Amino acid sequence: MDRDRLGKDGQVERYLKGAERERTRRQNEKNRNLRGGEREDREHRGHRTRGHEQWDEEDDDAPTFQRIRKPTSAPTGRRAGLPEADEADCLVVGVESGKVLVELHGEVVEARMLPEFVVRGAVTVGDLVALEETRGGSPRVIAIAPRRNALTRTDPANPHEERVIAANLDLAVIVLAPHEGGVREGMADRIRVALAPHGVEDLLVVNKVDLLADGERTALEARIAAHAENGREAIAVSAHSGEGVDQLRSALADRTVVFVGPSGVGKSTLLNLLDPSVQRPTGEVREKDGKGRHTTTSSRLVRLAGGTRLIDTPGVRQFGLGPLDLDDLRVAFPELVVRATDCRYSDCRHLGEEGCALEAAAKSDVHLAERLGAWRRILESDG
Ligand code: GDP
Ligand code: ZN
Repeated sequence: MDRDRLGKDGQVERYLKGAERERTRRQNEKNRNLRGGEREDREHRGHRTRGHEQWDEEDDDAPTFQRIRKPTSAPTGRRAGLPEADEADCLVVGVESGKVLVELHGEVVEARMLPEFVVRGAVTVGDLVALEETRGGSPRVIAIAPRRNALTRTDPANPHEERVIAANLDLAVIVLAPHEGGVREGMADRIRVALAPHGVEDLLVVNKVDLLADGERTALEARIAAHAENGREAIAVSAHSGEGVDQLRSALADRTVVFVGPSGVGKSTLLNLLDPSVQRPTGEVREKDGKGRHTTTSSRLVRLAGGTRLIDTPGVRQFGLGPLDLDDLRVAFPELVVRATDCRYSDCRHLGEEGCALEAAAKSDVHLAERLGAWRRILESDG
């Protein structure tokens, strides 16, 4: 009996660990957003990177990313005298084959990479880099600052390879749209799992709510309320009617934000609406000129009014996760964590083990059953 109870206590502790880690991460993230907080935090961890917030606060009026280094030598690949990664302060706004687009004096310039950086994922949108002038050619990226976080997924063609989508984020906006009246949230769960180790906040945007019938709308509201109960922020938006757009805009203010989701959900339309001075081609525009659906083939960072740095990403069909850490999965499923304390085994994965409390409870709780199904789909495909 006693052993049982001890077992249970241990179980509670294990399961709560995930939620606790998440709280700590979110708190750290908030602290970092306070003036100077990030620097302190990084110094504590042995880095001395300057974060966007700090830049923006210190250099309110100045063009922010502006340094190009004098040539240190002919481009012979000699490393002596190169700036350290912690001096990297030019913002990467795009990456194309073999070259990066970097903000310099408020303008976007093309830079080349040192051969050692020409590796997929070595430089990504949102990175801070140091540039060096080269004689007669475009500047070169010679140092990359350590990232404070990154959103990554596995390469659909090669699940062992990681693809970095964007780095140094304050918020990930997961954009979905209703499909046959309901919203499939599997991708949102996966993105939350990918963000969990970094503690990056997420916001679920359900766009195209103008397409929902009354009953479907009521069901969506119930889901949004359930999300809120579990600490997940979600909003109903329509780029067509304008509903929720102001709320979305204010959630993005002064932050580096990535828009991620399947294609066709309205990411470009929303972006154009958030700041009409940025015009990304949308599905509709391309359909009109007969060229079919557009494809945003690479991520781009654009600055919007209100201090938002928005990273628009190509639509993802599948969001593959690397090796799964159960604690990261728990962060995305807090409603299961609380109920799992009654499972017989402390390491219950809720995949049909004997004495699984979730399995029993799900029989009479539709919402729980649905979340358990989502948990299982991730564990069964990636675990
Ligand atoms: P993206 O691939 O996520 O960037 O999607 P797009 O912005 O290209 O939009 C895809 C299609 O959805 C276009 O035809 C848009 O006009 C349409 N669309 C975008 N937002 C809404 C919306 O709120 N309601 C409706 N009904 N259609 C929308
Ligand atoms: Zn269980």
